Amino acid sequence: MALLQDLLGAIRESRIEIVDLTAPLSASTPVLRLPEPFANTIPFQLEEISRYDEPGPFWYWNNIHTGEHTGTHVDAPKHWASGQDGLDVAQLPLRALVAPAVVLDVSGKVAGNPDFVLEIEHVRKWEQANGPLPAGGWLLYRTGWDERSSDEAAFLNADETGPHSPGVSAECARWLAEETELAGLGVETVGTDAGAAHSFTPAFPVHNYFLGAGKCGLTQLQNLAQLPATGAMIVVSPLPIVGGSGSPARVYALVEK
Ligand code: MN
Repeated sequence: MALLQDLLGAIRESRIEIVDLTAPLSASTPVLRLPEPFANTIPFQLEEISRYDEPGPFWYWNNIHTGEHTGTHVDAPKHWASGQDGLDVAQLPLRALVAPAVVLDVSGKVAGNPDFVLEIEHVRKWEQANGPLPAGGWLLYRTGWDERSSDEAAFLNADETGPHSPGVSAECARWLAEETELAGLGVETVGTDAGAAHSFTPAFPVHNYFLGAGKCGLTQLQNLAQLPATGAMIVVSPLPIVGGSGSPARVYALVEK
């Protein structure tokens, strides 16, 4: 009892701040665009049922149309072929969704190179300064890409050679997924892999290795700049879509002032 009272007191007195890491969900939320011959997700849409009118004189409500992988969202292991025997989004253990989070900031490097990829040496250097990656926790990969999130063209950053956005090298993705105790990787981009990761070996290595290892992905985060390198707690709340491969999620962090 005392632990929760202390926590609630600290939140009430703003000694602990709650930082929203979620992108607003609307028809203009950027979504992934796959090239032919692959199928694509629909954009988020509201469909009005009634608005204090004849179909519903006292009430306003909508149907929502969305993909599972729209806006700030979770990738469950089942999303990828390598994780197809793994958990669906409704089965994710809550203990993995309320967990420690650390922030690795490479926004300075990405500013001059949108195709920047994280290597093991960058993580090792971060660990030397900040300590080990948190067991059962999340690595939040700050690239500065959230600044582009209100403009789909800038966010996807595609040209005739495909999309250009930062990610993680295949070697580093395998190492993070298989040789650390992370629960997942969170990013600011439209997906957890680099824009050019279709050409990596294996293709889409973050998806391949993390989901194959039973870990999760988390995308389109915002406001990571407001988090400390270590010491935050993240709360990730996907919808429990039975059999689902992922879900839009509200994500926030608790940060000690
Ligand atoms: Mn996804």
